[in-house]
Amino acid sequence: MLDQKLLDVLACPKCKGELDYRPDDNELRCNACKLVYAVKDDIPVMLIEEARPLS
Ligand SMILES: [Zn+2]
Repeated sequence: MLDQKLLDVLACPKCKGELDYRPDDNELRCNACKLVYAVKDDIPVMLIEEARPLS
């Protein structure tokens, strides 16, 4: 589970937009870019090259 304060400051590295946190999948989604950012050891991997496309 990510801290809400952390979630508040996180933004998509590509569009700087809001992210949609999915605790069940342990990932952050940018619906604008259709990208999914993984969360590893409670640390979001905010790298465009590490993101995977939202299916
Ligand atoms: Zn984005």
